[in-house]
Amino acid sequence: MSIKERYILFKKEIPESIHLIAVSKTKSVEDILEMYNCNHKDFGENYVQELVTKYELLPKDIRWHFIGHLQSNKVKFIAPFVYLIQGVDSLKLLIEIQKQAKKHNRIINCLLQIHIAKEESKFGFSKEEIVNLLPRILSDEFNQIKILGLMGMATNIENERLIREEYKFLAELFLSLKEKDGERIAMKYLSMGMSGDYKIAIQERSNMIRIGSLLFGERNYKN
Ligand SMILES: *Cc1c(COP(=O)(O)O)cnc(C)c1O
Repeated sequence: MSIKERYILFKKEIPESIHLIAVSKTKSVEDILEMYNCNHKDFGENYVQELVTKYELLPKDIRWHFIGHLQSNKVKFIAPFVYLIQGVDSLKLLIEIQKQAKKHNRIINCLLQIHIAKEESKFGFSKEEIVNLLPRILSDEFNQIKILGLMGMATNIENERLIREEYKFLAELFLSLKEKDGERIAMKYLSMGMSGDYKIAIQERSNMIRIGSLLFGERNYKN
């Protein structure tokens, strides 16, 4: 099946209200263009260098989502053009995003990443950290940043009950933060769900899913 066919089938399967981020990491510019030509504009990458290269080669109306763990010293490379940084997982990173956004005279949209999985390897704030940090995040110190929601990754095992529990927890936090909607924060996107668990995520009120292998086929990591 071609990428175009897969894309059309997948779009039919999910509710229209769900924001679909096509995760194009390791995939070629040609593959991305094939989907872009289906009028799809949202793509996600998680390596800075790869993202910058693709940004330069591809149409400028693509909305690039940075979805992985972002090192502070690399923010400067994506700050001029990134549409949404999905994995903001530390204060240090927020400080750097603020600095670079100011330098480029733009507001940078961010999602706060929450650690919901049982695995240590996944990044993110705890609920307590978010609650404690929120007044500072919403202060003038971060006036070049707009928080548009939350992102989380569930435990990477086939345990539906556990995944569901983790997504439930994140959705509840999302809803409780919604009450704080204001100038600097708008809980618009709840980014949860990947190829393996997007159905559970949608049932648990996700409105943004990040799908790679189901759309582009399995990834080949060559190095
Ligand atoms: C790679 C990746 C995805 C997509 O994974 P698939 O299983 O291929 O759909 C989603 N989110 C993040 C953060 C990723 O790194």
